[in-house]
Amino acid sequence: MEKNGFVDVSSILSGCYTGEKVRIRGWLDNMRSSGGIHFFLVRDGTGIIQCTMKKGKVDNEKFEEARKLTQESTLELTGTVQEDRRAPGGYEIRIEDMNIIHLAEEGYPIAKKYHGPEFLLDHRHLWIRSEKMQKILRVRAKFLEAAREWFQLNGYTEFHSPTLITAACEGGSTLFTVKYFNTEAYLSQSWQLYAEAAIASLGKIYTVAPSFRAEKSRTRRHLTEYWHLEAEAAWCDLECIMKVQEDLLAHVFNALSERVPRELESLGRPPEELARMMPPFERISYDEVVDILAKKKVKFNWGDDLGWTEEQKLTEEFDKPFFVTHFPTGVKAFYHKPDPARQSVTLSADLLAPEGYGEITGGGQRIDDLEELLRRIEEEGLNPKDYEWYIDLRRYGSVPHSGFGLGVERVIAWLCKLNHIRDAIAFPRLINRVYP
Ligand code: ATP
Ligand code: MG
Repeated sequence: MEKNGFVDVSSILSGCYTGEKVRIRGWLDNMRSSGGIHFFLVRDGTGIIQCTMKKGKVDNEKFEEARKLTQESTLELTGTVQEDRRAPGGYEIRIEDMNIIHLAEEGYPIAKKYHGPEFLLDHRHLWIRSEKMQKILRVRAKFLEAAREWFQLNGYTEFHSPTLITAACEGGSTLFTVKYFNTEAYLSQSWQLYAEAAIASLGKIYTVAPSFRAEKSRTRRHLTEYWHLEAEAAWCDLECIMKVQEDLLAHVFNALSERVPRELESLGRPPEELARMMPPFERISYDEVVDILAKKKVKFNWGDDLGWTEEQKLTEEFDKPFFVTHFPTGVKAFYHKPDPARQSVTLSADLLAPEGYGEITGGGQRIDDLEELLRRIEEEGLNPKDYEWYIDLRRYGSVPHSGFGLGVERVIAWLCKLNHIRDAIAFPRLINRVYP
């Protein structure tokens, strides 16, 4: 694509400009010189390309000026595109003219050598330029693009709920408190309660927004601020909301395979693997989970919540995502609907990713009956006064309804085969980190 006479590296790499004279601009990722040639690797935000500058093919002055170029300097280059198998990406630009826009300072902190994870987290503002982070961030963007597409194609309306709230929905232990003038408020853990209000206005809704959880333990799969893709639908039961997730993920997997195949491949997730993970996803009940874990000699009693250790063990049994359904009422938030056929379990379903990743979505059917909601609020020791407006929703036009929440970074970590969830987001917030 051409903008102000400049072309994107990605379109050069897809063969659109072979043999043509082009102008590009970007950052100098790397440079070396050999004999009468300078080899540049130039990154422009769409891709990275080799550019060669030959003595005699540019003004001598420019050739000498290029010697002082430092890593991350910004440049405008003019040259002719050649197919070249030896070049990374298969193309190179033979430079005819160069314009230095900014000469970066010497000593770019991220050297071409091994750096420890803490160092890279401290220099995250620079590390996001790395090839690996570029790929992950691109996959993440394409994931959300495709997800939004699916919701739009299926009659869902995007809805936004507040971030500053007064009533908890996922339990008090992970709430962040903020000073709100002369009183206190919390940061939202989920859009849940507001979504249930909004379905009476819009029917089927979704959102993509940050959720905040003061997770007190250090794990590889918890951030304190994460992006939450949530959906809620009126007239939808447990089976319906599982189907929604299957259709959504099928669309997303297809889109990613088509739109970012090279990124996925180089992150260790060839698109064929996504094709293999297509829905339908198996459904197993929580009761079955108890049996499976017992057979695997994992200490786990009926009524316990699934943690990472248990989920990891469980994922050994599956090679694509699978649902765990009917969790005990005691391990789910108060708004989950108890199964009318068996009050000790809820009409809930979590989706777990294979390969040891575990929970990527949590959801199910919500309580629609006033008395039942009041009973559950009381059983959980919550104050009904805090939930007055929410309780009202069961007084005026209650409907069967369901929804789910998907942790964007959880899915990206799994799809991109990351060891730690922090790399699924540009600037991770963790128990011990809010900088940079
Ligand atoms: P977990 O048991 O793993 O802490 P949860 O049961 O607290 O998860 P839910 O309240 O069901 O999670 O939230 C919906 C989804 O949000 C989860 O399935 C997960 O993908 C994601 N999620 C929850 N907490 C976090 C977190 N701290 N960091 C990143 N993603 C999260
Ligand atoms: Mg949690």
